[in-house]
Amino acid sequence: MRIPISKPLLGPTVEESVLQVLRSGNLAQGPVVTQLEDRFAALCEVEHAIAVSNGTAALEAALRAHDIGPGDEVITSPFTFVATLNAILATGATARFADISEHDYNVDARSVASLITPQTRCILPVHLYGQTADMAGLSAVAEENHLAIIEDAAQAHGAAFNGRPAGSWGTGCFSLYATKNLTSGEGGLITTNNASIARRLRLYRNHGMVERYRYEERGTNLRMTDLQAAVCVPQLADYATNIEARRQNAEQLSRLLADVDWLKIPTELPGRSHVWHQYTVLVGQNSPVTRDQLAEHLAGRGIGTGIYYPRLVHEYPVFENHAQVIRSDTPNARSVAARCLSLPVHPSVTATDIDEIAQAVHEAGR
Ligand SMILES: *Cc1c(COP(=O)(O)O)cnc(C)c1O
Repeated sequence: MRIPISKPLLGPTVEESVLQVLRSGNLAQGPVVTQLEDRFAALCEVEHAIAVSNGTAALEAALRAHDIGPGDEVITSPFTFVATLNAILATGATARFADISEHDYNVDARSVASLITPQTRCILPVHLYGQTADMAGLSAVAEENHLAIIEDAAQAHGAAFNGRPAGSWGTGCFSLYATKNLTSGEGGLITTNNASIARRLRLYRNHGMVERYRYEERGTNLRMTDLQAAVCVPQLADYATNIEARRQNAEQLSRLLADVDWLKIPTELPGRSHVWHQYTVLVGQNSPVTRDQLAEHLAGRGIGTGIYYPRLVHEYPVFENHAQVIRSDTPNARSVAARCLSLPVHPSVTATDIDEIAQAVHEAGR
């Protein structure tokens, strides 16, 4: 694709930073991981950030650090990457699915509240595409029912709700996978203001080892390497510029697509700081083209698109008869999954590219 749907920002500063680690001979978890954790904690305005091997591991470890396991129920979004569900299932807990709002594509607080049972322990919202869920509404529900909040912020580094960053409302789980706003190739980060959760996570990440061969609890190896951290640290220094470029691309695209009456354009809701991981439109029921035809037309023009996600996680056959998966009817989520299409707005997309994308969308409808 001439204009791909995502592209990592890997300039000379990243190359230099990786070379420094290579030359140091210190390839495993070390000072660069600590540097990444400190800077990421600052970005999220939290006390602690714990680096792990990937975002899925971050979610599973966060759930375990909250003692969530067999018999416990977690309420999450059905409109997410399968990692969210797999992490819940790995702990032995049971997943229930709330419906989403068509405005932010994230779980709706009222729908979450309607699913609470005596077994419910945790609300796990997903801040999809870079915009947070309604954290005021969800926090109120969590507080009233004494539930933990674990945020799947894999796509929302630096996003905020009423000025308070994603990952600071509960225990935050971030991914540094190659296509995310910030990347280390593979990697993850967990954020928290709770010192005891942070301590448990640091122990769990390294076999529960307090000091050499002294084990406080069962753990595993979820360590990140300094090589990976070195890829990400320089990106953090430029991250505000990255977000601003995404925002400008999104705004330009929205201006140019405003007259397309068969498309619903994504919006930044009041009080939210969207970091535009994805710019996702909905193809209307009255549209002259289907979602897949639109994607195909754009591909023909060299424009990459993405369908995130084509199907609700709990509707995949692998989970059909899974004892820990409790299906529920989520009509908004089903409708959005059938109509969503993401268009490129990442920082390598130029203003001219945005013009071309908009033009190609107009063409597709003619
Ligand atoms: C990427 C992603 C994950 C998983 O992160 P990995 O680093 O790929 O394991 C989890 N949830 C969501 C919403 C994601 O986009």
